[in-house]
Amino acid sequence: MKLTVWGARGSVPAPGPQTTRYGGNTPCVAITLADGALVVLDAGTGIRNLGLTLASEPQRIHILLTHLHLDHIQGLMFFAPLFNPDSEIVIWGPEAPGVSLQDRIARYISAPLSPVEIRELPCAMSFNSAPPSEWEIGPATIRAESIAHRGPTLGFRISEAGSTLCYIPDHEPALGAPLDPSQPEWISGYGLARGASLLIHDCQYADEEYEEHLGWGHSKLSDAVAFAACSEAERVLLFHHDPLHSDDFLDSLSDLAAARWVQYGGAPDRIALARETQEIALAGQLLGGA
Ligand SMILES: [Zn+2]
Ligand SMILES: [Zn+2]
Repeated sequence: MKLTVWGARGSVPAPGPQTTRYGGNTPCVAITLADGALVVLDAGTGIRNLGLTLASEPQRIHILLTHLHLDHIQGLMFFAPLFNPDSEIVIWGPEAPGVSLQDRIARYISAPLSPVEIRELPCAMSFNSAPPSEWEIGPATIRAESIAHRGPTLGFRISEAGSTLCYIPDHEPALGAPLDPSQPEWISGYGLARGASLLIHDCQYADEEYEEHLGWGHSKLSDAVAFAACSEAERVLLFHHDPLHSDDFLDSLSDLAAARWVQYGGAPDRIALARETQEIALAGQLLGGA
């Protein structure tokens, strides 16, 4: 599978001269599967730029929403394929008691917040709660699990041809207690991230910022790296950058993350802070044979 980061900022878009290198758009990662199928992780403002590359191509697009905080759905109604009558959009997201996924998204795509209603969109659109068991999208197998954040929130594990991407953009696994690597199965998200070829994970706060934000649903740098090490991810992209963090500050966090990763035995070139427009190809592992 091949992936492109279209937005790596958390909470609220942060455009401006201080954020040109890492980008100011909120979460969106596009995955192209081996058969050409497109799977989009979250619909933050980054999805708008993705849509511009697809505008005239009718196709079936799956959008996997981790949760419905505004930074993860804000770009949805600016996604060009929604306005293409030949497109089919399949949205997957977390269940919540008593109200459907479509009705929850319609709280945003409806008056007075939006000039259009979902029923007015010309594309074919469907909404599905992510099932509790694995499901298939083209050649990929998808698994969703609830993880520690504020409100119903999923992480995703996407496997194809021996490669596995784990996407947990909003996550506070160490809430209230340090991560205990001796009992990893008790750590939120561990089952999703275990042995992933690439882990994309929340790293909103520098360590010294975390105390003021305990319980807000996000990770400090040292917890994000500890989670990645404990789950034995092969490669790590730290994600959901705080809107107050400039490019220069994120460079300093990147150095700190690499130094911590090395302490856990990792190679410094296998961990980085996600940057908008970054592309990564996950090559399938050879499974037996020559
Ligand atoms: Zn978020
Ligand atoms: Zn969130």
